[in-house]
Amino acid sequence: MATHRTKLLIIGSGPAGYSAAIYGARAMMEPIVVQGLQPGGQLTITTDVENYPGFRDVVQGPWLMEEMKAQAEHVGTRMMWDTIVEVDLANGSPFRAVGDSGDEYIGDALVIATGAQAKWLGAPGEQELGGKGVSACATCDGFFYRGKRVAVIGGGNTAVEEALYLTNHSDDVTLIHRRDSLRAEKILQERLLNHPNISVLWNKEVESFAGDPLAGGLTHLNLRDTVDGSASELKVDGAFVAIGHSPATELFKGKLPMDDGGYLLVEPGTPKTEVPGVFAAGDVTDHVYRQAVTAAGMGCMAALDAERFLANLEIDTDGHAHAAESAEQEAAE
Ligand SMILES: Cc1cc2nc3c(=O)[nH]c(=O)nc-3n(C[C@H](O)[C@H](O)[C@H](O)COP(=O)(O)OP(=O)(O)OC[C@H]3O[C@@H](n4cnc5c(N)ncnc54)[C@H](O)[C@@H]3O)c2cc1C
Repeated sequence: MATHRTKLLIIGSGPAGYSAAIYGARAMMEPIVVQGLQPGGQLTITTDVENYPGFRDVVQGPWLMEEMKAQAEHVGTRMMWDTIVEVDLANGSPFRAVGDSGDEYIGDALVIATGAQAKWLGAPGEQELGGKGVSACATCDGFFYRGKRVAVIGGGNTAVEEALYLTNHSDDVTLIHRRDSLRAEKILQERLLNHPNISVLWNKEVESFAGDPLAGGLTHLNLRDTVDGSASELKVDGAFVAIGHSPATELFKGKLPMDDGGYLLVEPGTPKTEVPGVFAAGDVTDHVYRQAVTAAGMGCMAALDAERFLANLEIDTDGHAHAAESAEQEAAE
């Protein structure tokens, strides 16, 4: 067991964590990134990424994340193959975290970039056809289904928004919901129900996703009626599972304020949490945009704010940080 000390501790290695690391390293904060169970984050489980700025051609998600990691290391970030299992924020800076390995991490400032995970149905074929017709993000993948038949599964705001978004690319969108009414806001429901290119299949559950992952991908959905139990089939080229996301915030329960969905709350327009020196960036605090580029932007903001926070701290020889006295205080003494 070892103790790792840094000016900037970053938990999470998605676009938010790596971007915070790039900015933090270039500001001489010698950051440590604790990568967690999914080094590179959510983009490592997708294939084509066509909307991350800087690349004219489609790039592969895992490749993009390898490049971000290499860039962060190149400018001086230390990567740790560990998962944080405990954090102590109660005593202010420096913040202490403990990894699954038993190692201890101490950071004068802390960036939380633990992201979120899309919820999946768990139906047969879903994972095998992931990226081959099955997706959890219409904004990310809708473009690949231009002029094709698509379905959205879910009944809340996200599902309705995804279905409406998909009408930009397809004139054959089906929303599949297991109940006979939607949970989405009324205004969204109205837009959906009045849209000429969207039809709704009520009281239907997806029993399985069918198709060949190696040849052509998804071909159809096998459905079951939740009222009379009858089976049916829906031919589609793309299916978007939109039943919500789970932010990875279990660690911070009772330690940082969260909204009802478990997303970390920050001061609006900033990555600042309620605890000075602790910043949240990316999907862990964002249930609206959930994009690699927005996560990266928030990671940048978190590192810049961490730099400002550290500039106002004095670190004692015993390793404890204190807010530096302001010029006014010093003058008054
Ligand atoms: C299938 C799919 C396709 C997508 N396609 C696109 C696309 O084309 N374009 C786009 O812009 N966006 C896309 N997205 C969305 C994009 O991936 C996310 O918005 C983005 O990855 C969020 O970045 P993040 O850094 O906030 O978190 P994440 O990418 O979720 O990364 C979170 C990180 O935190 C780590 N972590 C979690 N808990 C701990 C812990 N306790 N200790 C240490 N580390 C921890 C994980 O290991 C991971 O490294 C897609 C998402 C999915 C699922």
